[in-house]
Amino acid sequence: YPKYVHLNLLSTCLVVSIICTIAVSHSLPWQPPQEIANKLHQGPETLTQASDDYGHIIHQSPLAVLDPSSNFDIASLINFSNSLPIPFTISPRGQAHSVQGQAMATNGVVVNMTELGKNGSRIVVYEKKAPLGKFYADVGGEQLWIDVLHATLERGLTPVSWTDYLFLSVGGTLSNAGISGQSFRFGPQITNVHEIDVVTGKGEFFTCSSEKNSELFYSALGGLGQFGIITRARIPLQTAPTRVKWIRLLYNNFSAFSGDQEHLITFDERKRKNAPNYIEGFLLLNQQPLDLSFYPVIDHTRISSLVTKEGIIYILELAKYYNDDDRTKETVEQEAQQLMKDLNFIPEFLFEKDVSYEEFLNRVHEDELFLRSQGLWDLSHPWLNIFVPKSRISDFDSGVFRNIILKQNLTAGVVLVYPMNRSKWDNRMSAVTPDEDVFYVVGFLHTSGFDEWQTFDVQNKEILQFCDNAGIEIRQYLPQYTTQEEWMKHFGPKWKNFQERKDQFDPKHILSPGQGIFNEN
Ligand code: FAD
Repeated sequence: YPKYVHLNLLSTCLVVSIICTIAVSHSLPWQPPQEIANKLHQGPETLTQASDDYGHIIHQSPLAVLDPSSNFDIASLINFSNSLPIPFTISPRGQAHSVQGQAMATNGVVVNMTELGKNGSRIVVYEKKAPLGKFYADVGGEQLWIDVLHATLERGLTPVSWTDYLFLSVGGTLSNAGISGQSFRFGPQITNVHEIDVVTGKGEFFTCSSEKNSELFYSALGGLGQFGIITRARIPLQTAPTRVKWIRLLYNNFSAFSGDQEHLITFDERKRKNAPNYIEGFLLLNQQPLDLSFYPVIDHTRISSLVTKEGIIYILELAKYYNDDDRTKETVEQEAQQLMKDLNFIPEFLFEKDVSYEEFLNRVHEDELFLRSQGLWDLSHPWLNIFVPKSRISDFDSGVFRNIILKQNLTAGVVLVYPMNRSKWDNRMSAVTPDEDVFYVVGFLHTSGFDEWQTFDVQNKEILQFCDNAGIEIRQYLPQYTTQEEWMKHFGPKWKNFQERKDQFDPKHILSPGQGIFNEN
């Protein structure tokens, strides 16, 4: 370009920047530092977007949204808040796939993490001569897991631990745990991270791992955004399989179903080859409409009749990965038969598919596209996710699935139920689990009209009350509490440590106020 175009551009940018600075600083109660002034936005559309999330239940408006270009912008914002007599709160917002305003900041500043990745990909895959002698990827905290999948598959590699849905940010899931059907074997995503970069609530930047700045490492993983903003994560990789044998087995008896799930997650580490790669489960309830899209059309009638007869059908979902190159379809078939030979599902209700690895991992996106096409994706999501100790899962089935869910006939959405091994979690991290070797994830993933979510909310409260009355020591996953007393109960023996870590890394309680732990919602 000729020089004058550059000059013109430069002066235009300067004018825009000055206008932005004036515009922002005029309507903000404080004068932001110059280096981020033109990155703070207050347009009505921007604020409305930052006041909403996937739940569409809570709406809290920030004063402004920061579009950061680098870690320095984030540190600058946090430092500035710390310097004020009354600091404002700051919330990193990944994809806002939270359902109760966890990524919001009432009268504070929301950090639009997506902007960090706007200047080119922030996923670097290291192969072969990686310093740790292993494969890994360095991934920006704002990156989506679907993009991590694509970037690693290009090199024939893959992370081992996933979430069911991949359009979630790396920083967002690492702030919770990141769980799916692989967790029983590989642990949640938080235990599959070598190293993270974090900007703390004091505006300090650290690279941390189990060896270096380990207190911050363990705090931030599962830390609900309370200690720092994760701007990079180093994720270990393995050679990627190419294909997946994807199986669903139907049960009409809960103890047979849970007994088989528990049997399948107890595998011998030395004989990994024949272990399943993924185990989940969910309910098929006698409610309309039944989602039978997985099954051959020819079987829809007999599945519907079974569900009508039984009220609840339990579905065990299992996957075996394989690579076309080294194991034939027949070998995997034999391994799968071996796995299933001792299971107690209804014999004529076994269904299977053979799909690509990517198709399997990205399976929920198919549902998303369908729901979007029907206008059903952007509804309210009054979700409840809990961990139930194995010793009480049968009481939970009779008290909740049969006595509340089936009887009230409300459920619209998916009810997940599958076990995991606590030994694959790391108790030094902030995430909490029940105090038993095996616990179940139970997810009530309801979808409701905007003015109907309260009905589900009442049901969720009833479920929690039932557990309380029955002495079932559940823990919430993606927790939603409104009082500090409830949070103390949630963290149990870990509360003191959680609080001390908060004092150490975010003493002015600036970060992620939407969680409602140290700030009122
Ligand atoms: P956000 O909602 O943007 O943020 C969540 C919290 O983390 C907020 O408090 C925010 O301030 C904080 N935060 C965000 N980014 C950072 C960062 N970089 N550093 C520090 N703190 C940060 N979860 C599972 O474990 N397994 C699943 O299978 C699963 N499936 C899901 C399917 C759907 C359709 C949806 C909507 C959610 C699902 N989730 C699942 C839940 C999901 O993992 C959490 O809601 C997660 O927080 C979403 O990431 P996000 O980027 O949208 O986070």
